[in-house]
Amino acid sequence: MKVGVLSLQGDVREHARSLSDCGVLASLVRRPSELDAVDALVIPGGESTTISKLARIFNIFDPIQERIKAGMPVYGSCAGMILLANQVEDAIVGQESFGGLDVTVRRNAFGRQVDSFETDLTFQGITNPPIRAVFIRAPWVEKVGEGVEILAEVNGHPVAVRSDHLFATSFHPELTGDNRIHKFFIEEVCEPALKSASARNVVK
Ligand code: GLN
Repeated sequence: MKVGVLSLQGDVREHARSLSDCGVLASLVRRPSELDAVDALVIPGGESTTISKLARIFNIFDPIQERIKAGMPVYGSCAGMILLANQVEDAIVGQESFGGLDVTVRRNAFGRQVDSFETDLTFQGITNPPIRAVFIRAPWVEKVGEGVEILAEVNGHPVAVRSDHLFATSFHPELTGDNRIHKFFIEEVCEPALKSASARNVVK
């Protein structure tokens, strides 16, 4: 399995390393041809407004949106969660998201940079020890649509969600050296999605 990391801005190297440590081929994706070469994509944390503007400049915005619609597994962390959300609260004027995930996300919901924090999370399916989660000017999920599963919450606000081939966290697992969130993405999101896609191709 080849997993790309959208490398326009943000925590690109850290995600690539976490993916490699999980034993998958990680590559950097900035151009449409590089997107064509991967089975799945990670959209890192950084600044969602910058990433979406650069995605337009690099002509990769529409190709990513099309791949999401076609079922490509995607994991969005922090800014990446915002970029996967169908609706964004506190967006800047004209801010665009790729969308696909039927949630409303509030940008900077936990406050400003100085309100960044770490906490231990109860994450559905990953226990013992709990996930140490780093939140940096993080969003939270305000509303979930049908079929969106909530995997973790902080003070009643969802901070990890999954819907079919799309997975998002408000926090940054690439910063802690604990690869269980990336492993979850590979094993629980990518592998089933890619297996059913190849089964569909065989039937065709
Ligand atoms: N607040 C940032 C945004 O709106 C996200 C911060 C992050 O990814 N750490 O994109």
